[in-house]
Amino acid sequence: MRAPSRSGETAKTLILIGLILDLIGEAILLAVGALFLAVSVFGGLLLGVAAIGLLWVILVWVFSYARVREGDYQGARTPTLVFAILSLISFALIPGVLFIIAYAKLGDAISESVGTPPAWSVQPTPPIPTPVATATPLASASRFCSHCGRANSATSGFCEGCGAPLG
Ligand SMILES: [Zn+2]
Repeated sequence: MRAPSRSGETAKTLILIGLILDLIGEAILLAVGALFLAVSVFGGLLLGVAAIGLLWVILVWVFSYARVREGDYQGARTPTLVFAILSLISFALIPGVLFIIAYAKLGDAISESVGTPPAWSVQPTPPIPTPVATATPLASASRFCSHCGRANSATSGFCEGCGAPLG
């Protein structure tokens, strides 16, 4: 179980608000449709639209909200964008905008959940003692001639430059 990301939580809230607004819209359609049904066929049309709207709310819940709630940000991202575009096309502007922001937040949530684990796993393994260990053999590998100052290999007994014995 992954820790819930902050952007993921924001996306979840935005989708939920969008869903509630959609539901309010459906409820108004149902009420108006029921009122008009007694007078004209137009009421039946409104009821039909409201029925499609309820199906829509279920789809958004299953493919977008439920996935975000489970932490499946990658799986919820594309459906959320599709729902945002469909909302805007059908003039449900506020839910559409909310879904678009949720889509962007899901992108943040994905990069947060991908970017965080390496940062945590890299931190405990910095090999700090290595520079100290490599510095020591370098210093002892060369012996400086006290006569001419030339750096000689540690194994040589005499200076390679002037031939003076190395102490
Ligand atoms: Zn020398």
